[in-house]
Amino acid sequence: MQLVFWGTRGSLPMNTPNHRIFGGNTSCVSIGADDTLIAFDGGSGLVNLGTEIIADGRREIDICFSHFHADHICGLPFFKPLFNADMTVRLHSFGTQAASLRDALNGYLQDPIFPMGLEDFEADLQFIHHDAEDTLSFGNITVTALPIPHPGGAHALKASTGDKNFIYATDTEHTPSEPNQNLIAFMHKADLAVYDCTYDDDEFATRGGWGHSTWQEGLRLAAAAKVKKFGIFHHEPDRTDDMLIEIEKQAKTMQPSSFVTRDFMRVEI
Ligand SMILES: [Zn+2]
Ligand SMILES: [Zn+2]
Repeated sequence: MQLVFWGTRGSLPMNTPNHRIFGGNTSCVSIGADDTLIAFDGGSGLVNLGTEIIADGRREIDICFSHFHADHICGLPFFKPLFNADMTVRLHSFGTQAASLRDALNGYLQDPIFPMGLEDFEADLQFIHHDAEDTLSFGNITVTALPIPHPGGAHALKASTGDKNFIYATDTEHTPSEPNQNLIAFMHKADLAVYDCTYDDDEFATRGGWGHSTWQEGLRLAAAAKVKKFGIFHHEPDRTDDMLIEIEKQAKTMQPSSFVTRDFMRVEI
């Protein structure tokens, strides 16, 4: 399974001289296995995935969404495959949501916020909504979802190929000293899990109800779930390269295989 981290930032795309190493695009990861390519979320990182899809001559892509907050859908209006009549783009969402993905995107692409609407895309654009319990199959990749606590709801996503598992668990808020047992079971023995590491435990003390978690909580969950590799993901926009290097150092003392995800990073599991 080949993973590419196109966007690893949370909340807002960022670009300063202190965001050069880890990048500033928001959440998007592609997952490839044999000829199949899918993606999780469509933050600003999706734009660069779109460029690669066109360059590779692909004709279809499936994108599964954790939820519809702007940092997870803002790449879609700039996703080049949507402007190609030969492309099929399928957008997948899960569980009970206050609004469907079509409604959310339609609301986002409204005058005066954005000058064009869903009807302007030339690709065959499909919206497919699934029960949270459904198992989706894309070639050799299967995808399952788990509801996780976040304002408006979100789903952790799991991509599996044979014996390899990748967990994508963002965005979510934890309850201190009450580890999310459903998420631990979902992550069990994953080859790689990435998690909402917006804050550290000290910052979290004043961020209750904001919907996000900490890198220390992620490491605690990963240890409980016997995850093989842990990736720090959904970085707070103001986290500089130096801060993330320091977080990685500290995380490695707790779990040597842990690392901070960065834009354009390619990982094989
Ligand atoms: Zn987010
Ligand atoms: Zn969110």
